[in-house]
Amino acid sequence: MDSLSAIRIVLIDTTHPGNIGATARAMKVMGLKQLVLVRPRHFPDATATAMASGAADLLTDAIVVDSLDDAIADCRLVLGTSARPRSLEWPMLASREAAVHLHQVVQAGQSAAQTAILFGTESVGLSNEQLQRCQYRIEIPANPDYSSLNLAQAVQVISYELRQAFLTEQKPDQPPQSHASHALADDRSVESFLERFHQMIVELDILNPAQPKMLMQRIRRLFMRARLETSEVSILQGIISAVLAGQHRDK
Ligand code: SAH
Repeated sequence: MDSLSAIRIVLIDTTHPGNIGATARAMKVMGLKQLVLVRPRHFPDATATAMASGAADLLTDAIVVDSLDDAIADCRLVLGTSARPRSLEWPMLASREAAVHLHQVVQAGQSAAQTAILFGTESVGLSNEQLQRCQYRIEIPANPDYSSLNLAQAVQVISYELRQAFLTEQKPDQPPQSHASHALADDRSVESFLERFHQMIVELDILNPAQPKMLMQRIRRLFMRARLETSEVSILQGIISAVLAGQHRDK
């Protein structure tokens, strides 16, 4: 259960401090501890502390950062919660499946401290750009006619599902999933690879920056789905370097 407490909950652009406090409480009752706040509007705040009740220690330990990059740079598995499907649909897991998946990945050797779950701002949720930093979108299957939970309540449901998944001891006859024991690339290296991939297809005139359409988002989705390993990112970076060097020679 130690690994459960290492999973990172990331709240982005939270408007109401009460939600931050209620989130801390929702996490602590389920055994989670790591709270990261990206650009909270009011924090620290008396309302947050009051709503946290006996979980005020999580607020004291919370890490406040200016950008999503800083919140997840070292993460190898990032999941984004959203009630809404998007025009470019992302690989999706229901909340229970997501918790089971995360538990399996951790049992197979992935560090729980390098996994993060993102929650969006109250008014509009996660932007497409934020969601596209994730390997999966997580949806809490709610009433289709009114599916948007309060932020802290969404954190409660996810934390609850994580606790149930982590309480289930893996049976000895279930071998760990081998794919997860390879080192998955962290967010920082995947982002720098995607940036260079973008540069490459612009230089090759495959992508017109004036009219990008959805090309780069589709490519991003492909590589996110692939769950790149560190060594694979190195191979791909090497290929891009070779292509760009050839391109520059020819010019
Ligand atoms: N109005 C926003 C919802 C914001 S609710 C929208 O239309 O997207 C605040 C946050 O709670 C969301 O960003 C998401 O992180 C979480 N959340 C709320 N309902 C959810 C659901 N049904 N499934 C997954 N996450 C949900």
